Amino acid sequence: MNDLRDQLQRPLRDLRISVTDRCNFRCQYCMPAELFGADYAFLPSDKILSFEEIERLVKVFVSLGVKKIRITGGEPLLRRDLPVLVERIHHIEGVEDIALTTNGTLLKKYAQDLAKAGLSRVSVSLDSLDEQRFAVMNGHRGKVATVLEGIEKAAEAGLLVKINMVVQKGKNEQDIVEMARFFQEKQHILRYIEYMDVGNSNGWRLDDVVSKKEILEQVQQIAPLVPAVPHYTGEVATRYQYADGQGEIGIISSVTDSFCATCSRARISAEGKLYTCLFATEGTNLRDWLRADIDDATIAKRIAAVWQQRTDRYSDERNEQTMAKRQQAKIEMSHIGG
Ligand code: SAM
Ligand code: SF4
Ligand code: SF4
Repeated sequence: MNDLRDQLQRPLRDLRISVTDRCNFRCQYCMPAELFGADYAFLPSDKILSFEEIERLVKVFVSLGVKKIRITGGEPLLRRDLPVLVERIHHIEGVEDIALTTNGTLLKKYAQDLAKAGLSRVSVSLDSLDEQRFAVMNGHRGKVATVLEGIEKAAEAGLLVKINMVVQKGKNEQDIVEMARFFQEKQHILRYIEYMDVGNSNGWRLDDVVSKKEILEQVQQIAPLVPAVPHYTGEVATRYQYADGQGEIGIISSVTDSFCATCSRARISAEGKLYTCLFATEGTNLRDWLRADIDDATIAKRIAAVWQQRTDRYSDERNEQTMAKRQQAKIEMSHIGG
């Protein structure tokens, strides 16, 4: 089934698995504290996929063409014994790469164990080097210094580290150049992410987006940038190298320069729903299939059928009408993890 294609001839190659809907941050653009307060009903543990269930699904997805796994959340390092899951996935034949997206606060504690378990790469989210601005963006839950320590430990453990910075107008655009300089010096790749209209909680407005073009203009203050040749089809970030050979940056421009034509990503939420787009409004309940007496071959066939029906290209089509149609119905980022 490796030649499985959706309606736009896109293969299924990447699987992003959210292992928890909980988070120790309250980033305004993702889980604003006003909406995700003390009385917010997170998923009870029996509704979340177990490691056995995730392992089973990964095997099924690999049989359909998936090669790369990304573990995300919520904050994935809040899930107990995460290195055990990484190790199980690492042993599945056909998995070529396992990555983790994290806010980095618990990375210092887990980096070694994750690397030993077979994790290859980690993307650490950090929106500013200024403690005050970072605090405002993460709902006063995390410190720059802690995230930087996590990044260092991850690099020491041999993990390939990338940094993700969501850029929001009026919040952290003044950090674009300083972040580039800092991580160029540290030799970690920084990737800027255009602020996206994911979920329904963040009150997104197009005016709050700092575009790829604006970001590029700012970073070129350091040195001219030249486009880099993509490593593979479907690469999420557009990569640029400093013309003087001193490193590279990436920009994930879902809003101003979308890339749906090569999107080979499927996502599974912590409760086991399959989503074929980050901006989906409905998912397919895989957990029910796993917990009913349905064999893996049948589950594989059903997932293949979902992928074959896929027509998603939300970012390519984003306009006032498509946005209005999905208003209040999109799945939250903290459920499917970016
Ligand atoms: N908690 C982990 C973290 O923050 O890295 C993993 C989950 S988080 C939802 C995954 C990524 O999505 C992070 O890099 C985060 O900055 C990004 N993200 C969340 N909401 C976003 C939004 N509205 N626009 C763009 N990126 C967003
Ligand atoms: Fe948590 Fe990540 Fe969302 Fe921030 S972006 S609230 S760290 S899940
Ligand atoms: Fe893929 Fe949907 Fe994002 Fe387009 S909008 S790149 S189809 S996840």
